[in-house]
Amino acid sequence: MHLILFGAPGVGKGTQAKLISKNFNIPQISTGDMLRDAVKNKTELGKKASLLMNQGKLVPDEIMLELIRDRISHNDCKSGFILDGFPRTIAQAKELDKLFSELQLPDVTCIEINVPDEEIINRLVSRRLCEQCGTDYNLITNPPPENMRCDKCGGTIIQRKDDNEETISNRLKVYLAQTAPLKEYYQHKGAFFSIDGLRSIEEIRDDIFGILKQ
Ligand SMILES: [Zn+2]
Repeated sequence: MHLILFGAPGVGKGTQAKLISKNFNIPQISTGDMLRDAVKNKTELGKKASLLMNQGKLVPDEIMLELIRDRISHNDCKSGFILDGFPRTIAQAKELDKLFSELQLPDVTCIEINVPDEEIINRLVSRRLCEQCGTDYNLITNPPPENMRCDKCGGTIIQRKDDNEETISNRLKVYLAQTAPLKEYYQHKGAFFSIDGLRSIEEIRDDIFGILKQ
């Protein structure tokens, strides 16, 4: 089971990935998390990436693919994995296909969580996370406790620095220009499913589980 969750930033890919991971016992591979870890641990790739991100630039595909290649070689990926946050461009999708055929992995199943653009900005400015353990919240779709303390660890719930309106509308523009064409790419390859993302986390989850059990 090799799965790509696809959709604009803020549609809840991370949340669904966690649910799928738990239910089907396959790891969630979030390129965003891997990148943050690499930066935090000051690995060679992390140092390169952090320099670029501080300049507001995108991290090059080679770095992302190296992170993925390394991660999916681990034992826990034997029966599958969920890629969260990658690929974001057709060039990346092609590189990923190359990596998969090199490693003799079966093709991916691609599931889109579809949310209209105007709703995406709303959701992104509503995003919060626990400063301490990283648990995700969203004021609209997944509200934190009223006292704004994490219900897992008691940490303070904050807004990520890059979740302000300016960077969000920039990211949406980048998404529409680069990532949306990916939909077509995966439709051509088969195994593409689109799910209505304007519903509760549970309803979206049930749809995804239904597809994966087929
Ligand atoms: Zn927490």
